[in-house]
Amino acid sequence: MFVDKAKISIKAGDGGNGAVSFHREKFVAAGGPDGGDGGRGGDVIFQADTNMSSLIGFRYKKKYAAENGQNGSGARCSGKTGESLVIKVPKGTVVREAETGRVMADLSGDEPVVVARGGKGGWGNQHFATATRQIPRFARPGYPGERFEVELELKLLADVGLCGFPNVGKSTLISVVSAAKPEIANYHFTTLTPVLGVVRVDSETSFVMADIPGLIEGASEGLGLGHEFLRHVERCRLIVHVVDVSGIEGRDPIEDFRKINDELRRFNPELAERPMLVAGNKCDMATPEQVDSFRTYVEGEGYRFFPISAATRQGTDELVRAIAAELAKLPPILRYEPEPPTEAQRIRTARRNEFTVEVVDGVYVVKADWLANALAGVNMDDYESLQYFQRVLVQSGIIKKLEEMGVQEGDTVSILDFEFEYVK
Ligand code: GDP
Ligand code: MG
Repeated sequence: MFVDKAKISIKAGDGGNGAVSFHREKFVAAGGPDGGDGGRGGDVIFQADTNMSSLIGFRYKKKYAAENGQNGSGARCSGKTGESLVIKVPKGTVVREAETGRVMADLSGDEPVVVARGGKGGWGNQHFATATRQIPRFARPGYPGERFEVELELKLLADVGLCGFPNVGKSTLISVVSAAKPEIANYHFTTLTPVLGVVRVDSETSFVMADIPGLIEGASEGLGLGHEFLRHVERCRLIVHVVDVSGIEGRDPIEDFRKINDELRRFNPELAERPMLVAGNKCDMATPEQVDSFRTYVEGEGYRFFPISAATRQGTDELVRAIAAELAKLPPILRYEPEPPTEAQRIRTARRNEFTVEVVDGVYVVKADWLANALAGVNMDDYESLQYFQRVLVQSGIIKKLEEMGVQEGDTVSILDFEFEYVK
């Protein structure tokens, strides 16, 4: 099965916590703070792999996480950096944030792309000694790693896309002009996966042609087969519209031509503007009048027309040369630029990721994944440490939320394992 769309969740590693530790040595009464920093969490990185041709693996494995950074320890030892996770995808895969649809990466090149960044490690207490605070009994927790639900979409990288009704001879054409060997058969929907073929024009020139599975009417609305394949046309610089001019299947070539163009337009109006050459196939079975009347129509619409017979290779060299000449005039293959989240999206994401507060039996219960980390570095018996904890609660908006929910002096607030009384 050909799978060219998948949704997965990715999570970069959390930063390790800073350590609370004091230097100890024989005969030295109170050593200075020497708690090391937490290690950075690993990133989630995407990389194109030319050996992969579909996203099928992502049907079965949906969750991907990079390693967390390790906590710091005494004697100024920093925690180990978390290992990054490299996710391999077929070349041409576009990564979007599922929630907003914004493009995060386009894996069309060979360079790896970091999509989710690991959290920074927290500072150990060695950083917190000041003249007035000589015994810092707290350290910074690590920052959480970024996490996203992402949609992967494979959009093939081809210069030319063959479009047309099923059975008009697209697979036959690509098989005679390139080394690609798609399935060819005299029934509809033989081609269920797009096939890429490299077409060599001469010793210096070649281009990539894609055999896009047959479009049928209504494809752009998701009826039947073909809709899901239209996305593979989106990057093509040139469309070669293959039409059966012999009308051997009882359809009118002009009707076919219009219907396919309508489908392209409905799927993406930009596709209707894409440069297009028209190949009238099965000329070996057509009468000269049939070929001429179709040519007159197509040229009248402003397209260049090439009569061919893929089966007998008649006219295919001319078509290939015309394609190469056309491509030479066109801009390179479309790449999708990563879009940074807008301010509104960032705030929304931050809010959602931060915390929830619920009142259960009169207790305000705060839940947040990242708080586990934050609290790991807090020593509840230490005044300064508590002050730090307070600041985390204020800065993250938890206090504000509690107040909005009507928390009163003396009410109990529960955060993970901690319970404390709310004081203004
Ligand atoms: P696709 O569905 O567009 O990929 O069409 P195929 O390449 O699978 O071809 C469909 C049928 O048309 C097959 O039986 C081919 O042998 C036949 N065919 C393809 N090109 C020609 C041609 O130029 N002349 C004739 N007579 N038959 C052809
Ligand atoms: Mg085919």
